[in-house]
Amino acid sequence: MAVEEIVSRVYGIGMGYVNAFLIAGDDGLTLVDSGLPRKKDSILRAVAGLGRQPADLTEILITHHHIDHMGSLGDLKEATGAKSYVHPLDSPVVRGDRPQPGPNPASILGKFAGPLIERFGPAPTTAPVDVEVADGEELAVAGGIRVVHTPGHTPGHLSFLLPRDGGILFAGDAATNIIRLGLPIGMFTADREQAKESIRRLASLEFEVACFGHGRVLKGEANLKFRRLAEKLAR
Ligand SMILES: [Zn+2]
Ligand SMILES: [Zn+2]
Repeated sequence: MAVEEIVSRVYGIGMGYVNAFLIAGDDGLTLVDSGLPRKKDSILRAVAGLGRQPADLTEILITHHHIDHMGSLGDLKEATGAKSYVHPLDSPVVRGDRPQPGPNPASILGKFAGPLIERFGPAPTTAPVDVEVADGEELAVAGGIRVVHTPGHTPGHLSFLLPRDGGILFAGDAATNIIRLGLPIGMFTADREQAKESIRRLASLEFEVACFGHGRVLKGEANLKFRRLAEKLAR
């Protein structure tokens, strides 16, 4: 596990192929995504590394219902008392009222690799959802965070925009930056056209820095790179 300060009071927690992020506010700490199951201790070590206690973690914002983003949510809530924030279209899966949908069979990889992943991938976990949040809401956490509904990867996928320092975007899996900035992996994306529309939506926002569930942080005029991607996808 690697903890990296991205900009002042924003930290990336690298956990293998998936990232989570900690934002230090004036009072508490806010976590964006919670990693795979059994990552509670890794995340609490990152909290301790900032000289904070588990109880200082007061909010956990979940970008979407995939296991690599909400896997440790239940354990972390128990350990910290933090409130969870999820979009209403993804909350039934997070709560366990609806099963995790499998990989998209419309993608060739999903059709062939999907059944294997379902069989050998991490077992689903569930967690309580405290607050359902919708597009355009301003959350009074970490100095104010704007909620941007970016459906496509999942129906209730959320991105979060912290307006300070020129704008810091937490894009979840609305886009990835593994080799370069691009659409999320097709096999795990419910609706590719909607995912493209969400890239256009993000490209219209102002932000200098973009943080992803998968891949490296983009620093410096990150929104211009989203605009270029949106143009490329429109061709
Ligand atoms: Zn995902
Ligand atoms: Zn993911």
